[in-house]
Amino acid sequence: AAETPESKCDVIIIGAGPAGLMMAAWMARCGIDARVVDKRSTKIFSGQADGLQLRSLEIFDSFGFADRAWKEANHMIEMCMWNPGTDGVIRRSDRVPDVPVGLSRFTQIVLHQGRIERFFLEHIKKHSKDSLRVERAVLPESLSISEDLCDDHSSSSYPLTVTLRHLTEDEAAPAQSNGSEVRDGLFRSNLAEDDTDELIKKSQGKEGTSEVVRAKYMVGCDGAHSWTRRQLGFQLEGEPTDFIWGVLDVIPITDFPDIRMRCAVHSASSGSLMVIPRENKLVRLYIQLTEIKPDASGRADRSQITPQTIIKAAQKIIAPYKLTYEYCDWWTAYQIGQRVGTNFDYKNRVFLAGDAVHTHSPKAGQGMNVSMQDAYNLGWKLGLVVKGIAKPEILKTYQSERRRVAQDLIDFDHKFSRLFSGRPAKDVMDESGVNMSDFKDAFLKGNLFASGLSVDYGASMLVAKEGDAAEQGDGTDVSLSTVSISASKTRVMGHQDVATNIKLGMRFPSYKVLNQADARPWHFQERLRSDGRFRLVVFAGNVLSAAQKSRLDAFCASLASSTLLAPHLHTHVAVLTLHSAKRVDVELLRDLPDVLHPYDGKTGWDYDSVFVDDVSYHEGYGDAYAGYGVQRETGCVVVCRPDQYVGFVGGLDEEGWRGVEGYFRGVLRDGE
Ligand code: FAD
Repeated sequence: AAETPESKCDVIIIGAGPAGLMMAAWMARCGIDARVVDKRSTKIFSGQADGLQLRSLEIFDSFGFADRAWKEANHMIEMCMWNPGTDGVIRRSDRVPDVPVGLSRFTQIVLHQGRIERFFLEHIKKHSKDSLRVERAVLPESLSISEDLCDDHSSSSYPLTVTLRHLTEDEAAPAQSNGSEVRDGLFRSNLAEDDTDELIKKSQGKEGTSEVVRAKYMVGCDGAHSWTRRQLGFQLEGEPTDFIWGVLDVIPITDFPDIRMRCAVHSASSGSLMVIPRENKLVRLYIQLTEIKPDASGRADRSQITPQTIIKAAQKIIAPYKLTYEYCDWWTAYQIGQRVGTNFDYKNRVFLAGDAVHTHSPKAGQGMNVSMQDAYNLGWKLGLVVKGIAKPEILKTYQSERRRVAQDLIDFDHKFSRLFSGRPAKDVMDESGVNMSDFKDAFLKGNLFASGLSVDYGASMLVAKEGDAAEQGDGTDVSLSTVSISASKTRVMGHQDVATNIKLGMRFPSYKVLNQADARPWHFQERLRSDGRFRLVVFAGNVLSAAQKSRLDAFCASLASSTLLAPHLHTHVAVLTLHSAKRVDVELLRDLPDVLHPYDGKTGWDYDSVFVDDVSYHEGYGDAYAGYGVQRETGCVVVCRPDQYVGFVGGLDEEGWRGVEGYFRGVLRDGE
């Protein structure tokens, strides 16, 4: 028999859905030797998730491809609510903005998951110089972990051994349901049995189809049925519900007036429907299938569900309006289950992300977003640890930060889907019905959460704020001594009062500012690229005042001469400056210390790091200092993590400098 080939890599990613691709994108950006495998032979082309929340767009922008999604997608601006009047006939009862006004430079958009996966694939190709490719029709069949090596994070330690199987095209192709000609997503839905074990069995015994990979870290992004999670023996906790929903992507033919608006339609007694207008005249309909119930096993019979049963249910809900279609692009059905994983990592070596650790209803458009954001949280941490730059303990913050988000998501979904799936109350005495003003309130409150911008990471070695990791309410054993800048050493604390709107643990907000060198307006957040570098953001204040200039000079002198930070400046810690003096009165080279716009022998001065809070010619005035809650005269200093979350905030003074240094001493490996 042929020998089983063996190889090594730093990180192996299982699954190339949104979470796996986000992880691979970070690996490409950080230059990590990684592999990514997926059991399916082709990527998806239509259907699945489609809503992109504000935070996901900000993240895409930090990678440089938000503009592609923005151009191709449908933009959702208004949400309309339709409810039965006293005569029982549905009518429009409310219009609200689809997302809260003023939160972000983006609004919510919809574009199918296949396109988004395509943007990732091209990004990964470009940044890995085509060395990182999704290996399709490949899946792991065994994982063994050398327990004694798990705590050894040196570059020669490979605690994980994974055996991969390579499938044939036929073996890897999923079966379509019900003989339907339209692509359906049932094989990926929770109404379908998982086929992973069957795939492995089918291909076992064939020669030359397996391979052994020794890896340092593994990330299971393998969806709700996660094989990786099963190997670790971790559970998802939570409940299935009795609500069964069908999903149709069609070009509708209808007289319903709000078909190009996002709508929630509650009928008097035929269930509810959600309208999501999409790209290319498509509309996604989420329809509650009240006539299909789970059997004794708790699962619904999916053979009863077809596009015809789904549209019939929709027609009843939307009556007296007419609704039909000629073209159906994709359809699926699912039963809402709300579950969250007990553990997100095993010994900081094997991690789980995305649907592998949380499942919930798709209606609030969260799954793909939260899944990508899990991987967005973990990717740079793994990248910096593999490169030996950051301490391995930062990996612990993945679970402490993301498990709480998953828990919040499930709580939110629980509330929202019950209100959505419930029958509208006939009157105030109808206690089993849902009060429609409660639904509207829940929608408006939920909107901030659903935008992805309310995420607030707790105290840890990466977020210098009051509180300890144990107080984060995630019920896990993240102990202070391992994850934070230990209390016994001097635990660094940020000073929120010097930048009241740059919240520790939250994403760095954005205002319009101008480049000092060429006067071009930018959203400041656009300068926080996802390239694996921390950002030291210096709010330099009024650099034309002598007192402030001497504070700035002293701070910059400490920075430039720091034995800890100077070697990392610009490579792992980039410096961005925003001052508040008049742009035309300031000269970059004369008024701002060199470390803020460093000189390179080959390319000269850096003109892209110093910005000013001033009026632009064409795009108004961002009034950024006021927005950020920073004093115009005295400024402050902020440390932003590579994922744009705020790690430290302090004054532009000796104490602030000690805080910055202390923060990095806690995080960087050579800080010991
Ligand atoms: P997945 O997308 O499930 O990807 C997992 C990948 O791993 C797959 O490619 C799979 O082939 C592969 N895989 C699985 N097992 C193995 C194995 N053993 N070995 C190798 N590879 C493996 N989310 C939203 O945000 N907005 C929406 O509007 C929305 N609508 C949805 C509508 C529907 C009908 C459905 C079904 C889902 C919807 N979702 C929505 C949810 C969204 O699709 C998921 O939350 C998201 O895809 C999760 O991403 P993931 O990468 O974690 O997992």
